[in-house]
Amino acid sequence: MLRIDLHTHSNRSDGKESPSQVAAYAAENGLDFFSLSDHDTASGWDEAAAVALERGVGFVPGIELTTLAKIRRGESWHRFGVHLLAYLPDPEHPGLKRALQANVEARDQRAQAMVESLATEYDISWQLVLDLVGDPSATIGRPAIADALVKIGAFETRDEVFVEVLAEGSPHFIEYIEGMTPELFFGIETVLAAGGVPILAHPLARNRRDVDPEHFPRAHFEDMIDAGLKGFEVYHRDVPEAARRWLLGLAERHELIVTGSSDYHGLKGKLNRLGENLTDPEMLARIEALGTGSAISRPS
Ligand code: AMP
Ligand code: MN
Ligand code: MN
Ligand code: MN
Repeated sequence: MLRIDLHTHSNRSDGKESPSQVAAYAAENGLDFFSLSDHDTASGWDEAAAVALERGVGFVPGIELTTLAKIRRGESWHRFGVHLLAYLPDPEHPGLKRALQANVEARDQRAQAMVESLATEYDISWQLVLDLVGDPSATIGRPAIADALVKIGAFETRDEVFVEVLAEGSPHFIEYIEGMTPELFFGIETVLAAGGVPILAHPLARNRRDVDPEHFPRAHFEDMIDAGLKGFEVYHRDVPEAARRWLLGLAERHELIVTGSSDYHGLKGKLNRLGENLTDPEMLARIEALGTGSAISRPS
């Protein structure tokens, strides 16, 4: 059985290791295919693909696009970030390129605002965050802020920082910026226009405690499918069991693709380990049949 892991990060976004290192670990792990799917950038693809091919591993180009959704909750609208995996897109497609650039800029502004808020309690600065980012072109996210708080000794690990001060609900948490980060449905359209295959990353992971399928937003999911969403990343450590069953039912009814992946962020980035969840080869074949913006590379 082929081992396929379709979601990993390098230091071009919030992973701890270079694209080459991630590819080398993918080979060591015995993966047959892996996707580097950094947040809002394709800048690690070439480096990762070159090392992957050298080591006999297939490479699947991916991007984890940041989008912003809204959903009605009683009288008001609830806005929340949604991560959309785009497989085999053309990152030079003008619409997608604009969306990626807007996200990188929005992420910088938002992270600076979070750092300003945290700096009232902790001795950190935006400059410290930038200094600690391994690659100057990296897409910034909350993990970069967490690294600064670990660096000054305020916390032991990224995870601890998330639990204490960076999670939604923390007074320091700021959502992606409306008007800059693309809206979810526009994001799906944009990925499709760029020849990519949009797959929802870790669906319902935020509802870790709310695992009653009665409360899952079915209409919202059907709207995404109508908009052209092609599948769900069901097998991911953050997707609760009840959500998996519900998603598999929905996927079957709509003939959607189902993937599994690690969401690896480096040995020291997160607990997620390469290959801890895998994607069925048939599902990768369906992705390959639909994606036209870039191509899977295979070792000769
Ligand atoms: P952002 O996109 O800036 O909101 O940051 C979200 C990122 O934070 C995710 O892509 C994860 O990589 C990371 N993250 C979320 N929760 C944790 C955690 N508990 N420990 C470490 N990293 C986390
Ligand atoms: Mn991440
Ligand atoms: Mn994500
Ligand atoms: Mn991810």
